Amino acid sequence: MIQETSTLWLDGAHVGWGEGNVHLLTHTLHYGFGAIEGIRSYRQARGGAAIFRLDRHIERLFASAKAAFLEIPFDRATIERACTEAVRENGLEDAYIRPLVFVSEPNIVFSHWLNRVRVAVLTFPWKGYSDRGREEGTSATFSSYVRPKALAQFYKAKLCGHYALSVAAYSEARRAGYEQALFLDEDGMVCESTGENVFVVKGEQIATPPAARSILMGTTRASVLEIARDLGYRAEERDISRAECLEADEIFTTGTASGILPIRRLEGRPVGTGALGPVTLALQRAYAAAAEGRSELYERWLTPL
Ligand code: PMP
Repeated sequence: MIQETSTLWLDGAHVGWGEGNVHLLTHTLHYGFGAIEGIRSYRQARGGAAIFRLDRHIERLFASAKAAFLEIPFDRATIERACTEAVRENGLEDAYIRPLVFVSEPNIVFSHWLNRVRVAVLTFPWKGYSDRGREEGTSATFSSYVRPKALAQFYKAKLCGHYALSVAAYSEARRAGYEQALFLDEDGMVCESTGENVFVVKGEQIATPPAARSILMGTTRASVLEIARDLGYRAEERDISRAECLEADEIFTTGTASGILPIRRLEGRPVGTGALGPVTLALQRAYAAAAEGRSELYERWLTPL
């Protein structure tokens, strides 16, 4: 459950949480034609809080909106400020930040440009997984829902409507007793999970599906690729088959909300030995140090509040 905060940012002003309402004719509500971001702020080891890779997230929000022909009626600096102020206004440290670009009402035809584009930024407390949760990780299955390869470019945008497929695949997996689902495309190649990118590890070799597959270019994915190389691992962006996953020593997912999370069982079989693997653990530790301001090397990723 989300813990309510006192304010949210809507169309240029901080307003009360209860004012975050829209009319039922809101276009995005019907057709999913809108864009979102998912950002996190972390309590810093030295005190205070900082937002992780804010500029990159806001850049992706504008790119997502552009892909959907939506013109955000604010500049990037304003949206970045809305994020930092929203967290500060609510007195938060460990928080999730959700910018939402949506098409308003009253026109219900596909001509979305007849309606105003609106922007909201919501924030609420978010701690992510405990140490134990990060060790236990999840179980996963391959989804029966296929990610269309022809839409690889479209999936680079974080559009509301994309998540209909994610929620369906997630729901299907949960009903079958798994905690997460992995999408394959028509070639049988691995794309990502319902809301995270995916990595496989064999020995000390790390791989993640390339941009040419239907994946979101995750900020955590980019951070993990960089951290892995800095730690001396070989980390590649290349095609990964279903079979390779079943033979992997370690598999983990990456995403803002859940961080680096091992998949410890896949299709009812243990991944590798079934324990949290050494590569996943090393990356988890380095990523947490970066996000919590304990690493000089990655301080440039933090926007202090
Ligand atoms: N893929 C999908 C479909 C997602 O929704 C997310 C979460 N935004 C990710 C990957 C991971 O992206 P990020 O690391 O930027 O949170």
